[in-house]
Amino acid sequence: MAKTMAVNAGSSSLKFQLLEMPAEQVIAQGVIERIGMDDAIVTIKYGAEIVAERLVGHSDDDEDHITITKDGKGKKYENVVPIKNHQQAINFMLQKLTDLGIIEDFQEITGVGHRVVAGGEWFNHSVVVTDEVLAKIDRLADYAPLHNPANAMGIRAFQKLLPDALSVAVFDTSFHQTMPDVNYLYSLPYEYYTRYGARKYGAHGTSHRYVSARAAAMLGKDLKDLKLITLHLGAGASITAIKDGKSFDTSMGFSPLAGVTMATRAGDVDPSLVYYIQEREGLTNDEMLNVLNKKSGLLGISTISSDMRDLLDVQDTNEHAKLAINIFINRVIKYVGQYVAEMNGVDAIVFTAGIGENSVPVRKMIVDKLSYFGVKLDDEKNNVRGEEVEISTSDSKVKALLIPTNEELMIARDVESLKA
Ligand code: AMP
Repeated sequence: MAKTMAVNAGSSSLKFQLLEMPAEQVIAQGVIERIGMDDAIVTIKYGAEIVAERLVGHSDDDEDHITITKDGKGKKYENVVPIKNHQQAINFMLQKLTDLGIIEDFQEITGVGHRVVAGGEWFNHSVVVTDEVLAKIDRLADYAPLHNPANAMGIRAFQKLLPDALSVAVFDTSFHQTMPDVNYLYSLPYEYYTRYGARKYGAHGTSHRYVSARAAAMLGKDLKDLKLITLHLGAGASITAIKDGKSFDTSMGFSPLAGVTMATRAGDVDPSLVYYIQEREGLTNDEMLNVLNKKSGLLGISTISSDMRDLLDVQDTNEHAKLAINIFINRVIKYVGQYVAEMNGVDAIVFTAGIGENSVPVRKMIVDKLSYFGVKLDDEKNNVRGEEVEISTSDSKVKALLIPTNEELMIARDVESLKA
């Protein structure tokens, strides 16, 4: 059976998932961190059965790096090695997949789908990567300077090593290209939009697309007949209003810095305050952007951690932690309220991503504040983590759903659908 790889390349890291398609079965997943360093970290998790069959003949050195995963269902390869660049990282990873018996030959991988952060107005769906597409991804680095160059680097490196595999770009922004101009335009001089593409593009589109389709399936309705609000609450967080089966509005903006409070990102801030602080603190533009991207959000307010788990642990004794949680909840509620008004109603709200999938108390705090709209939480049903389940009461007018996101699967499916 053909294997497809879903890739998320960052500036110094590369995450991947290898799936058997069209069976949609994950056979390996992993990450290479600290690319460019002498002590890059390689982690690959894979199924026990696959390895049991093929481990024979491995060097002791390899086996030393392999442990059984916590759940006992798989194996984990971990190693620290020097890796100069993305090309080396991918070469090492493919070689290791072969050594571990996960693939027999590189040729088995017939498709590679790459997450690309910015697709601008050029891409409203996933596309096969051509020279022209790659050139556009390079040009869109203006919109996502931290991400698109790394995404493009990943694409080029895979193309060199797997020249026969279909290379596909899956854009974070494309799902949101259906937003009406009323929602994607800022109230700025119109010429900035025509001249520079200054508008809202949104992000996390692949996740919102996946969970909205799952929500429709769970509710037994056609997505086109539903009004949904999807809450992707992870380290990065965004909220999307989905109407007529399409993204109608979303909380992230020109870049993924806008919207709700995030782990270290500020979310919405009055732009004049940015200049006020920048001047007083004597910060350069890059330093100020760094404050807004890396030092704000939950971390900035709490002063102790960007991780929601840490804040929940100490919220009873630490006022700043409590305040950070309260601000996070408040911003989420505000967006949900806006979107109910914009869509003139809502049928279901969907929780996903790290916080949304795992935090029982955060989901409760949010739903309890939405009772006016007719959402009622079933505390027992809500007492789960990472399962696809309805968490509202059976008489709840508006449904609340918990749906673990699966961006890798969406990427692999897009590759499949472009193979024809
Ligand atoms: P993501 O970006 O989707 O991978 O989500 C990562 C975030 O999920 C981290 O910043 C954690 O704060 C958060 N997270 C993971 N598990 C929990 C949990 N049990 N309770 C609260 N937050 C969690």
